[in-house]
Amino acid sequence: MTGNAYPPPRLFIAGTWRPSSASGRTAPVLNPANERVIGEVPLVATAELDEALAAAGTGFAAWRNTPIARRTAILHDAADRLTARADEVARIMTLEQGKPFKEARGEALRVADALRWDADDARRAYGRVIPSADDTLLTVRREPIGPVAAFTPWNFPAGSPMRKMAAALSAGCSIIIKASEETPGTACALVRCFEEAGVPAGALNLVFGEPAEVSAHLIAAPQTRLIAFTGSVPVGKLLAAAAGAEMKPCLMELGGHAPVIVCADADPVAAARRAATAKFINAGQVCTSPSRFLVHESLLEEFVDAFVQAAEAVVVGDGLEDGVTMGPLANERRLKAMDELVADATARGAKVLCGGSRIDRPGFFFPPTVLTGVPADARLMREEPFGPVAPITPFGDLDEALRIANSLPYGLAAYGFTRSSATAERLVRGFEAGILSINHCGGSVHEAPSGGVKSSGYGKEGGPEGLDAYLVTKRVSHLLTG
Ligand code: NAD
Repeated sequence: MTGNAYPPPRLFIAGTWRPSSASGRTAPVLNPANERVIGEVPLVATAELDEALAAAGTGFAAWRNTPIARRTAILHDAADRLTARADEVARIMTLEQGKPFKEARGEALRVADALRWDADDARRAYGRVIPSADDTLLTVRREPIGPVAAFTPWNFPAGSPMRKMAAALSAGCSIIIKASEETPGTACALVRCFEEAGVPAGALNLVFGEPAEVSAHLIAAPQTRLIAFTGSVPVGKLLAAAAGAEMKPCLMELGGHAPVIVCADADPVAAARRAATAKFINAGQVCTSPSRFLVHESLLEEFVDAFVQAAEAVVVGDGLEDGVTMGPLANERRLKAMDELVADATARGAKVLCGGSRIDRPGFFFPPTVLTGVPADARLMREEPFGPVAPITPFGDLDEALRIANSLPYGLAAYGFTRSSATAERLVRGFEAGILSINHCGGSVHEAPSGGVKSSGYGKEGGPEGLDAYLVTKRVSHLLTG
């Protein structure tokens, strides 16, 4: 790729790249930094989904029977190709999603490492031998579950698809992935790495389409054995219901509205700086983004001042420009959502300390925004904001802060700041969330499991648990004869 050219997105079915679909339908891909159309993504036809399903069946047979050492070598080769192309992949990602080039490059490198982790971990998907009667060999085996149907969103164009592809292929499954129609170029670049590394035809298929149509077809198809989804809670519930009707297992990585509790004994300036850095990564479009800031009343002023200072230091602009630390929002829907959340909060008495309305220039730019005095019934305190908006609220009593933190149906991430190990433990036990950080806002790491509780979903990605959904456990009782 030269300069800022954007490679045309394609479908990848049964080992073949297809520049157009039998449906003849396409959707435009926009650069969110200037709203220009940079490409057209082909939208798959139902007959092509059936081809992908058939290919996933034969691909599964070929891939699961490939010796594990060979599978691991192929996946490492794919990871090395991705590492070598990190700049190219990052440029595509910034063009179609908006995040700063440096963030995009970091994402590409991280997901290559996540793939290495899963590939190595699959070599340790041990079964066991259980002591039993003398004439019986009682064993437990772990085997790939079969063809996976996966659906991923636009906020981590490399991260989300790779988590599904890495886990499925490492476990020996085949996969049909419908990545986001808004960020198809990054997904194509990842799939190319696997193809060139030697993943057999059909083991990995990439489609784009009308999301509801594609998911309904793939979930109902008899070949599909697991549904893996990352996205919003409402869509997750729809897909889980469709899977439930077919008695198919799901992996659901859904949204959150992460509380941050800053206790009376914390350093308010350090907490504000760390929380603000995490808040504005990817313009707040992160499912684990800190998004409700509950600060002990004795620290409120210092925390707010430091947070606003950090927000004002963020350099907003086109992610391909040097020095930019926050890009545009990824699509117009998020821009509209930010306008609505801020308008609702201010109508209920909230005060905007910085930012607050879209930036007057082409592109979906919304500035880092800090609000105080946001009442508990404001939409911003109840709905996942998924954008660069930070409401800061004081509290007096830690139990009350925990009650507020746990009061929503979400349970993905939670953050606490304190100097006391006893208070830290109280927070860890008290938070109803699956991903916790104390005294910092830790991001996802592939060596540890990530995933939510409550409406934020079920199942884990990353860590040894990351392969669980992709494996079935067989108990084998063998009466020894002869
Ligand atoms: P959305 O709820 O319409 O879509 C979320 C994702 O699900 C998109 O990738 C979309 O293509 C996909 N999707 C939608 N309907 C589908 C269907 N029937 N079958 C299969 N896939 C389907 O909203 P959106 O505007 O794209 O995103 C907005 C909200 O989604 C955000 O507020 C945020 O809460 C959530 N979200 C969460 C994550 C996450 O990482 N958990 C990522 C992106 C978006």
